[in-house]
Amino acid sequence: MEALTNRAKQIDRSPMTAWEKMYLPAIVKGLGITFSHMFKKRPTIQYPEVQRPFSSVFRGLHVLNRDEEGRERCTACGLCAVACPAEAITMEAAEREHGEENLYREEKYAAKYEINMLRCIFCGLCEEACPKDAIYLSETFAPAHYDRKGFIYGKDDLLIPDPNTHREAYEKAAAGRVRHKVSAF
Ligand code: SF4
Ligand code: SF4
Repeated sequence: MEALTNRAKQIDRSPMTAWEKMYLPAIVKGLGITFSHMFKKRPTIQYPEVQRPFSSVFRGLHVLNRDEEGRERCTACGLCAVACPAEAITMEAAEREHGEENLYREEKYAAKYEINMLRCIFCGLCEEACPKDAIYLSETFAPAHYDRKGFIYGKDDLLIPDPNTHREAYEKAAAGRVRHKVSAF
């Protein structure tokens, strides 16, 4: 019968020789492979005490950005949700009320903004699509959770700290911004 691929390997079914029947050479060979690994560099690390450096193109958790005055930048235009190939983003828009100019930069804002991290593939297209510099991906990776609900990140989880009230936390979060452009697609 003709082989389906050219990678088929013929198996040697000839009877074992007396030397092979001793099994000792094969055992010694196997032990040699095992011991050789004792002198190689270990690929494992003692996480979380030791952490690997991230690649320069690593994309982690999203941050909803504020401007220098602490106002939310997002105008709930929905472009990030449209650009998202995983359909991970949902939002509800609301009109800014009189007196809320110090909270929201634009006349419309996201009253609700959610990202499902179980769907997200961290491609960064939402960041690319945003015309308001309102969302970006950081160097922080999504922690593990015991239930699926924990992976739905709402505005409270995503918003960068307010620079007016938490200046230090704001600067720390802003420093974790990864600046890169999506090159593929
Ligand atoms: S990083 Fe990609 S998959 Fe994740 S929310 Fe943004 S566009 Fe969607
Ligand atoms: S994050 Fe940017 S793209 Fe997404 S709704 Fe807000 S302003 Fe629009």
